[in-house]
Amino acid sequence: MQGDVREHLAALDAVGADPITVRRESELDRVDGLVIPGGESTTMSRLLQVFDLLEPLRARLREGMPAYGSCAGMILLASDVLDTRPDAQQLFGLDITVRRNAFGRQVASFETDLAMDGVEGAPLRAVFIRAPWVERVGADVTVLATVPPDADADPGALGRVVAVRQGAVLATSFHPEVTGDHRVHELFVKIVRESN
Ligand code: GLN
Repeated sequence: MQGDVREHLAALDAVGADPITVRRESELDRVDGLVIPGGESTTMSRLLQVFDLLEPLRARLREGMPAYGSCAGMILLASDVLDTRPDAQQLFGLDITVRRNAFGRQVASFETDLAMDGVEGAPLRAVFIRAPWVERVGADVTVLATVPPDADADPGALGRVVAVRQGAVLATSFHPEVTGDHRVHELFVKIVRESN
């Protein structure tokens, strides 16, 4: 629902997965892993309730289903969110605290190259669109990427945590699906394969 669904499908397809869209529980039952795209997290949280997906999704995550959340997807997967609506629902897939729209409200979309653990080769082009950052990581969470010190971004953004992993759950503040570089999706598909 919402977000760059087509781009995520194309990226997953390109790295050898067999992606389907998930809008109902019967579709959720069929997948080995789930990508939660960007969009508007409070709207997506409402849609999850409208589509009766919130509790089934929480249950699958508790059972260890691999998931990858980009931007709003990271917000939804988090256990705690700052600067959100009081009625926004969380999936509790990651023991992290994220701040919504952390890089600034409207203007603070930016791009930078960054290194991400688990992604081999040249730095990734990371595209941030009204993105969250991670302010707290739990003991079981690994930080995979931070905004580099020389990024062309607000000084307050430098060093911020923007990619994490906890078990089979992966999240990035940025949008790899818009760059044509499929290495983050490749990492996620590897996590899914290793979990099955
Ligand atoms: N700002 C959005 C939110 O709070 C996330 C933006 C995005 O997914 N590109 O949900």
